Amino acid sequence: MNQHARLDDRAIPFIDVAAQRRRLGHAIDEAIARVLAHCQFIQGPEVRALEAELAAFCGARHAIACSSGTDALRLVLMAWGIGPGDAVICPAFTFCATAEVVALCGATPVLADVQADTFNLDPASCERAVTAAKKLGLKPCAVIPVDLFGLPADHDGIAAVAAAHGLSVLDDAAQAFGAVYKGRNLGALAAATATSFFPAKPLGCYGDGGAIFTDDDDLAARLKRLRVHGEGSDKYDAVEIGLTGRLDTIQAAILLEKLKIFPEEILARGRAAARYAAGLADVATVPRVGNESNSVWAQYTIRLAPGRRDALAAALKAQGIPTGIYYAKPLNRQAAYRGFPVAEGGLPASEQLAEEVISLPMHGYLDEPVQDRIIAAVRRALAR
Ligand SMILES: *Cc1c(COP(=O)(O)O)cnc(C)c1O
Repeated sequence: MNQHARLDDRAIPFIDVAAQRRRLGHAIDEAIARVLAHCQFIQGPEVRALEAELAAFCGARHAIACSSGTDALRLVLMAWGIGPGDAVICPAFTFCATAEVVALCGATPVLADVQADTFNLDPASCERAVTAAKKLGLKPCAVIPVDLFGLPADHDGIAAVAAAHGLSVLDDAAQAFGAVYKGRNLGALAAATATSFFPAKPLGCYGDGGAIFTDDDDLAARLKRLRVHGEGSDKYDAVEIGLTGRLDTIQAAILLEKLKIFPEEILARGRAAARYAAGLADVATVPRVGNESNSVWAQYTIRLAPGRRDALAAALKAQGIPTGIYYAKPLNRQAAYRGFPVAEGGLPASEQLAEEVISLPMHGYLDEPVQDRIIAAVRRALAR
């Protein structure tokens, strides 16, 4: 086997959590050992320390750590009292959790379309979703824009529609903590923002975790109560129905270490994205980032003419290069969400993207020779 073949046989990770582990392993092991020594596994001091650091990082008044990104979204809807008869507008092109939490509250997710060039909620379709909800006799209450693949949504456009119709805005920043929109960090923009620390997200822990950000003191107090079974002043005197929604102390300790290098990792992701764009813009549609936003590049997603991506994925796989399809089916095509209402005008961009998208390896440890190998392989496959 020659040198070239050996290099090509080495599998490339899609997201390299092991490289980060090699860099931070010692610090994280010590952080975990400190928790094992003090034994405050639930709501220990690391949780409060993490909440203070997260709030400072994004400029929100409150950060409330919780058990997952899904629970972060769900807790906010519960705190807002959203339930049967209420409509919550969600993009159709997202991970299912965005709409799942709406249905779990007994409310109705109304699916709106995205903008094909940003993958994010289209304010005009959001408006048409409000119309569709009203025609069905539902009360439009909230909208959940998603900052898909790490890129902030059109928050000003969505805020205008929300203001016109009295909708509360819950930003689903599960993929985008650390991203910036018009000079402000996500977390400090919407009435409430949810993020996820699932291991594959830009800021991930070693299990499940999430956080909620808000400037609203009353909402923050209610979220903290709902996170522990709606407990009142006495732990065994519940004042409302809540969840087991806490973040483990060990995960908080891990996140405190990872947060220290997160700004550097965001820059590294940005450099990798710029190299992909330079290497691929003439053979595929590469993601657009307007000059008003900074993406944290949870995914690097390109678009190809329909029918071309399976061959690309197979060619890359044969060379040890993984790819992902986010998302092959918009929510309206998934069995659990098929029955929910859709914005007037339908979901043409979501349907189109589901046929065109393919994501390439992306993380903060993608070194240039490996990335050059990926770019060359994509170019070779698309030249056929
Ligand atoms: C990952 C994700 C979630 C859910 O986060 P979990 O921590 O896995 O519960 C919600 N919305 C979007 C857009 C996501 O990507």
